[in-house]
Amino acid sequence: YRAKAQSGSYLIYEAGMRQQQSRSIALAQRLKQALADGQLELHYQPKVDTITGKLHGVEALARWRDPQWGWVSPAEFIPVAEERGLIGALDAWALETAARQWRQWQDDGWAQVPPIAVNVSAVEISMVEGFAEHALALVQRHRVPPQAIELEITETALMRNAEKAIQTTRQLVAMGFSLAIDDFGTGYSSLARLHRLSLARLKIDMTFIRTMLDDAGSMAIVTAVIGMARALQLRTVAEGVETAAQLDTLRRLQCDEIQGYFFSKPLPARELEERWLCAVDAMG
Ligand code: C2E
Ligand code: MG
Ligand code: MG
Ligand code: MG
Repeated sequence: YRAKAQSGSYLIYEAGMRQQQSRSIALAQRLKQALADGQLELHYQPKVDTITGKLHGVEALARWRDPQWGWVSPAEFIPVAEERGLIGALDAWALETAARQWRQWQDDGWAQVPPIAVNVSAVEISMVEGFAEHALALVQRHRVPPQAIELEITETALMRNAEKAIQTTRQLVAMGFSLAIDDFGTGYSSLARLHRLSLARLKIDMTFIRTMLDDAGSMAIVTAVIGMARALQLRTVAEGVETAAQLDTLRRLQCDEIQGYFFSKPLPARELEERWLCAVDAMG
């Protein structure tokens, strides 16, 4: 009886796995097509100074609306792209789109064109030969200085194939790109080691921000990370700030920048222009 029950649940488990796998395959096929057809978009989320409210930069986030499935979250399609060999094309598309957008904002004469941060997959940073050279050639092709582009790399990416990742990171910094560590606090890397990479920013993972006011452990982590980052002259960004209470606390802790729905969701380029970039017109 027990064996039967076990094999029964195994079958259900297996069917679940198979279903998941076929969704992932179908998703990869559609994503590939969407990339080829130019159906993906970038939205831009402001990073705002904790004290002055000034715009320091924007993060570019991929958005995909499938005609049949509707909006598909990056939390779902990025891992699929990574597993099925599409992430290189996707990340190159994102970098190119961001560079083109930055150039467009400059040419359109917006007064404050913010640097754009682009996410780079762990797979890319740790495995691809010549990643840094490709990135540089790509931004230069669009007449964008690497200083205008920040690359966000997750903490776990740097641990994956550490030697290679660190070498690429150093190269990128030497070329003039700025670098941010994304989702900090979820891995186990030491700040001392990260410090040697000449990073510009440390982005504290949303999970800590979300729980810090109710959970003493999260608060301790946020406090310690901000304190150490300050001592190492690294700028800190709190991700996922949604409430005034969180903002007040982060101000008190001297976190440098805030990213989150409290200030703005990721916005299509046009809306970002209307709400956050200030035009220089003939009247000055
Ligand atoms: P991430 O790089 O950590 O980006 C921040 C995520 O937090 C975004 O989710 C953003 O929409 C969300 N977020 C920002 N503020 C808030 C807030 O106040 N509340 C809540 N609940 N969420 C907030 P999104 O756009 O769904 O992206 C998820 C992840 O997918 C990103 O996390 C990033 O790792 C990845 N991703 C997105 N676009 C790309 C891309 O072009 N290339 C690569 N490699 N990864 C990407
Ligand atoms: Mg990011
Ligand atoms: Mg993040
Ligand atoms: Mg994340």
